[in-house]
Amino acid sequence: MSIAERLDEVRCRIGEAAVRSGRTADAVRLVAVSKTMPSSAVAEAYAAGQRDFGENRLQELLDKKPLLPPDCRWHLIGPLQRNKVRKALNAGLQIIHAVDKVEVAAAISRIALEVSSVPVQMLLEVNVDGEASKHGFSAAELKRLWEEIVQFPMLDIQGLMCIPSPVEKAEYARPAFAALRALAEDLRQSGPLPLPVLSMGMSSDFEVAIEEGATHVRVGSLIFGSRCYSFAT
Ligand SMILES: *Cc1c(COP(=O)(O)O)cnc(C)c1O
Repeated sequence: MSIAERLDEVRCRIGEAAVRSGRTADAVRLVAVSKTMPSSAVAEAYAAGQRDFGENRLQELLDKKPLLPPDCRWHLIGPLQRNKVRKALNAGLQIIHAVDKVEVAAAISRIALEVSSVPVQMLLEVNVDGEASKHGFSAAELKRLWEEIVQFPMLDIQGLMCIPSPVEKAEYARPAFAALRALAEDLRQSGPLPLPVLSMGMSSDFEVAIEEGATHVRVGSLIFGSRCYSFAT
């Protein structure tokens, strides 16, 4: 199957899952995860109408972005270290998905004041299954830090994102997705942000994520085929 055909199929499945969740297809944004894929593959997806692309490494994103049309929207979906924040803010990103530390949020706000007057769109990553080895705020930590985090002037915190541990069946990821949605609801209650975005769901489980309220799904291998990691190094 071509990339265009795979995209069609993914879009169709997104639409069906959105309807099951009482929404319409346009309530869910497909972020095509192009990490390790050559720019020619991204161009193929672009030709098939795809505009949102996700990369997990900043450098790879910076390398690829100039090779694609300027109306692509680039999502940084991987972890961002504090010392790379300036570079990221200069890159013209649509949104940063995985801010996982207060120090990184603080650095984004501070550097954004220097480089532009526009608040930076971002999501906070939550470690929904509580494994100590994983990135992200725990739910308890985020609630505790919330007042502090919402004070930063240059952050446009759009919502939450998660990467649950891989599971054998998509269905097993449902509690993690439901937990992210519940946490977003709690934080909304405590104000002052509307938090419209939930970035959750990948190739293996995006339909379950949509049923649980995902507004952004990050789908890579289902669109581009399996990855060849030698491209990334
Ligand atoms: C690679 C990656 C994805 C996409 O994974 P697939 O299983 O190929 O769909 C989604 N989110 C993040 C953060 C990733 O790094």
